[in-house]
Amino acid sequence: MDFTLKKYKSLLMALQQAHYKFITFEEFCKGRREDKFIILRHDVDEMAMNAVKMAKIENLLGIKATYNFRIVKQSNKPEIIQQIVALGHEIGYHYEDLAFANGDYEKAMETFRKNLAYFRQSFYPVKTVCMHGSSTSKYDNRDLWKRYSLADEQLLGEPYLSIDFDKIYYISNTDYYWDGFKTAVRDIVLSSFSNTYHCTNEVITAIKKDEFPPQAMILAHTLWTNNWFLWSFIFLREKARIWVKNTAKNNTFAKKIYSLIVKFYWRY
Ligand SMILES: [Zn+2]
Repeated sequence: MDFTLKKYKSLLMALQQAHYKFITFEEFCKGRREDKFIILRHDVDEMAMNAVKMAKIENLLGIKATYNFRIVKQSNKPEIIQQIVALGHEIGYHYEDLAFANGDYEKAMETFRKNLAYFRQSFYPVKTVCMHGSSTSKYDNRDLWKRYSLADEQLLGEPYLSIDFDKIYYISNTDYYWDGFKTAVRDIVLSSFSNTYHCTNEVITAIKKDEFPPQAMILAHTLWTNNWFLWSFIFLREKARIWVKNTAKNNTFAKKIYSLIVKFYWRY
């Protein structure tokens, strides 16, 4: 079984044994670099409780990661965010304001500022943000920065705007695969790297053989679990979601139904 907490620990340990240093996204934005480094990023989209388990493993290994939280109730769980801060990790805002405001830039910026202030006042002096993909919306949340500036909000960076992915390798598990980007809509980057991996063991083998790029951002979702029941549920749900999403691509009725389900699920 892949994408278990046990496998996650093996991945982190393989990186440490290969002399990768873990730097946070905030540290990266402030200019920190190492010969071999990993920026470890987690977008907490849902099931926030599970994120704490990953945060604890990292803490035991002396690793700091960046956890991005959404404002929706599945992600925005105060007691969880507090625990993750206490474990020494960095917090970012996983924003989706432009999609929520249906493309109204002024309204989006108003809620963005309000939400950012909430995370800053309640938990952590947030210095970085990262867009949520909002795949069913026609609005790309990043476009907010075509009219406004990160610096004006006292922000240092947004991964999709602040990192040159031709220099820094980007790898993410959007579902239970590392090459699931084939089904992603927005959380994809243009890059000159051709390395792709399917399962975690392939990634670990590449690290051990010194074939893994020396500088990388790893985006790991927070659904890795040792609980067999939860693992199977997530796996099957993901398969169903991708099937519906692909069907919706060529069918306007299915597309409407799919976005309604998404809207209903993420209401806040
Ligand atoms: Zn997201």
